[in-house]
Amino acid sequence: MKKRFSRRNILKAASVSAVSALSAGIVSGPKQANAQFSWMKPSAPAKPHGPSHVRFSPDSPSIQYHRANCERCGDCISVCRDIQTVYGHPGNFPASETPCIHCGQCTANCWANAVTERFHLQPAYNEILSNRQSGGSKKFVALIAPSVRVTLGEMFKMEPGTNVEKKLVSGLRKLGFDYVFDVTFGADLTVLEEAAELEAHLKKRAEDPKTPNVPLFTSCCPSWVRFAELFFPEVLPAVSTCKSPIMMHGAVVKTWFAKQMNIAPEDLVVMAFTPCTAKKYERTLGSGKDVDFVLTTRELGWWMQELGIDLPALEEGEFDSMLGNGSGAGVIFGNTGGVTEAVLRHIYFERTGKVPEMDFLLFTPVRGLDGLRRAEVRIGGDVLRVGLVHGTAAARKLLESGKLEELKLDFVEVMACRGGCIGGGGTPKTEIPISDALRTKRMSGLYSTDKTRTIRMSRENPELQKLYADFLKETGNELLHTAKR
Ligand code: SF4
Ligand code: SF4
Repeated sequence: MKKRFSRRNILKAASVSAVSALSAGIVSGPKQANAQFSWMKPSAPAKPHGPSHVRFSPDSPSIQYHRANCERCGDCISVCRDIQTVYGHPGNFPASETPCIHCGQCTANCWANAVTERFHLQPAYNEILSNRQSGGSKKFVALIAPSVRVTLGEMFKMEPGTNVEKKLVSGLRKLGFDYVFDVTFGADLTVLEEAAELEAHLKKRAEDPKTPNVPLFTSCCPSWVRFAELFFPEVLPAVSTCKSPIMMHGAVVKTWFAKQMNIAPEDLVVMAFTPCTAKKYERTLGSGKDVDFVLTTRELGWWMQELGIDLPALEEGEFDSMLGNGSGAGVIFGNTGGVTEAVLRHIYFERTGKVPEMDFLLFTPVRGLDGLRRAEVRIGGDVLRVGLVHGTAAARKLLESGKLEELKLDFVEVMACRGGCIGGGGTPKTEIPISDALRTKRMSGLYSTDKTRTIRMSRENPELQKLYADFLKETGNELLHTAKR
């Protein structure tokens, strides 16, 4: 029987005293180091008992299974197999292995909380607490992904789509963060890097007739990249090498920001707050040093609730400067189509030398919730053909169609979750049903925020300009990219 989500479910195995002991928490002065958040108690190890729930490695960096909570309803399998088209689909892996793209959609749809994100909440909390108690020298940096601002309020009974970014900044300072940065800055960084890659891709395609007529695929979504690795490895050479905006942001915090502030990189603890369980996986790739902890929007909400922080009642705060603020283009990254729209704004200026007109800034052909969308964009004398895909079923449909070359697409944005990051596997689960109506409200929250920003294009972000002038110098810095796939 399907069970409605409630905090009681999360706290099922809770010792009430442990919860109470933390209630004062960081806000009013920590009392107890390394105390356990109630929902962090280890569950019984998973044992195979028939195909009633999704299977993934017990070492998964992104999700975990809590056997005692499982009602064997099979909802997670349905989501993984039928919506995400992962479970049960053959691919580039031994038949004995169970594929997982770390999307977390099973966690968003398991109302018994038997499959959840791999929690970083407890160690993150302990890190801040023990540093404070020991008088340590560590400084804590919070990175806020674009979609968190329009979804977190749902956990505090606010209307979906309400932008809580300023209150959230205050809340994070109460949790003990020394610096609070907006990942819209990391998104702006991604726009410049990905646009440069796109232009190089198109140039190569035009100059070398042997180059396959395939588009450049985005790489902001690590679940999509993993999906391609597992099921469509042949497209990998055409997938951008850009790290996700969060990892790019973390990388420059640990280098440029550390240098500017005269803080040893090992003394900077970077925690990212994101709608995405797959960022927990992406964090482990490469050097694994860009970001130290990745918490979902849900984990952030639980942390604040547990410490008695009432988000709606908080005063408004401001993001820290230097790497802290992004453009409107960076804000819409959280929506399907947002990356494309942001990149197009940038390319428009680069090719024409003009700031795009308002109807270009509100480029409706790339907006919406159709799983597969196409648009032709005239910029100067050229036409750019873009494709928008959200949900891995739609990506599978496109890649299995055999029509990729025929479509003559130049740029394809893929997001593994329906709606893009606003529908991510780590977004809040409340009484509000997960539906396109909810996704639309969240998307509207980001589009409205974009309209209020005085800076709408990534290239106009003065903090970004300073970063390139003083540190990165030009696009393509290896700090921001993975090795060619
Ligand atoms: S993990 Fe959750 S969704 Fe999957 S079978 Fe168990 S209770 Fe159902
Ligand atoms: S995280 Fe995504 S791919 Fe992995 S088991 Fe859950 S639904 Fe399937």
